[in-house]
Amino acid sequence: MPHFLNTQDTDFEARFVELLAMKREDSPDVDHIVAGIIADVRARGDDAVLELTAKFDRMDLTADKMRFTDAEIDDYCSQVSPEDRQALNLAATRIRDYHLRQIPQDQMWTDMDGATLGWRWTPVSNAGLYVPGGVATYPSSVLMNAIPAKAAGVKRLAITVPTPDGVVNPLVLLAARIAGVDEIYRIGGAQAIAALAYGTQTIPPVDKITGPGNAFVAAAKRRVFGKVGIDMIAGPSEILVIADKNNDPDWIALDLLSQAEHDESAQSILITTDADFGTAVAKAVDKRLETLERRAIAGKSWADFGAVIVVQNLDEAATLSDRFAPEHLELCVDDPDELSLQIEHAGAIFLGSYTPEAIGDYVGGPNHVLPTARSARFSSGLSVLDFMKRTTLAKMTPSALAAIGPAAERLAKSESLEAHGLSVRARLDRLNGDHDE
Ligand code: NAD
Repeated sequence: MPHFLNTQDTDFEARFVELLAMKREDSPDVDHIVAGIIADVRARGDDAVLELTAKFDRMDLTADKMRFTDAEIDDYCSQVSPEDRQALNLAATRIRDYHLRQIPQDQMWTDMDGATLGWRWTPVSNAGLYVPGGVATYPSSVLMNAIPAKAAGVKRLAITVPTPDGVVNPLVLLAARIAGVDEIYRIGGAQAIAALAYGTQTIPPVDKITGPGNAFVAAAKRRVFGKVGIDMIAGPSEILVIADKNNDPDWIALDLLSQAEHDESAQSILITTDADFGTAVAKAVDKRLETLERRAIAGKSWADFGAVIVVQNLDEAATLSDRFAPEHLELCVDDPDELSLQIEHAGAIFLGSYTPEAIGDYVGGPNHVLPTARSARFSSGLSVLDFMKRTTLAKMTPSALAAIGPAAERLAKSESLEAHGLSVRARLDRLNGDHDE
């Protein structure tokens, strides 16, 4: 049974706060193991990576076999069915079109003091993408990470994907090829992250690492942050659906289950203006759980963290949703556009009953790598900007320096940074001298 709440209940606020504060993150603490793996890869390079790959992925590789050759990739790609290929191509096209629009504009202007100012965006040169491969593989993650990188202009994009017992998912390689990935290595875990960050004899280092992974991968990304950039550490997935009674309870049930089936720690929440509809959705979830393939996972997630919240009106729904700051938010109401204007904190919003969240996972266009665990309050999903950086530009003319330099000199003095002040003063003196002549 999920949690049932009603804003009219006297204990509502206390129970809502309890729901908000639920600790769902259950990653084991593997930091000490990961620290050892990273140190080993830094010290011994390829040899360490190969030994760890043999140990954890049961793969006897040599350094020259770590990277997939073009011929191998061709071979695997040819195993993909035309239907799967078509679906991947459609997804890739839509994701690319969406992300190309995110490329930011450079700016340059001259202000009233005569200073010319601005900024310029440039891509990261080398990026590494971790593709999980331990238990299941995720071709959609390849597209969602690689396409923004290439849209940003990343020149060299390398992928690492573990292939336990030598098992390769051809769809992952095809997705990488469609997205324009340059190098693919069959390694995984913390050793892959270390190899990407520090480089080995075979793998040149990268500047930024993105992509999801298990506890070892997450801990390794945390540890290499600073040497390289990282995207984020994603927590268990979550969905919040705001729905009125004019919906098919079964559709909403399936949307809730589409996150619950990810993992036992996932969270699915329905906020509705109609108590009977809430009960109908909960019943529909139970019915679907009788047959769903991943019913054990989805059922546990729904029972432990699922919730149905009955509200008086949609204003109340929007306010509560913002307090969750959900990763995914579906608005299944008569006027979703209007309601969306009231939402400030959400990773991605899906508008209307014909926009199930799963569309966003695969083919909608927006990115599916989104902030979890209420971090949508201060962060955004993966985008082209994650693979770019901004360089600021400033150009003074003599008269601009004369206008604003004295204030800089004064502030430098207040901070006791003499050379700072003098670097401005030397120029001002020359300008004054020039005037005097
Ligand atoms: P993985 O590729 O992340 O991890 C496999 C690697 O873990 C192995 O290659 C091995 O090197 C390492 N490893 C395993 N046991 C180890 C041990 N005892 N000591 C040291 N290293 C060890 O694949 P996975 O395990 O299937 O995990 C994938 C994760 O990615 C899941 O948690 C899944 O939920 C998550 N995921 C998240 C998203 C998202 O968008 N948030 C998308 C896809 C996957």
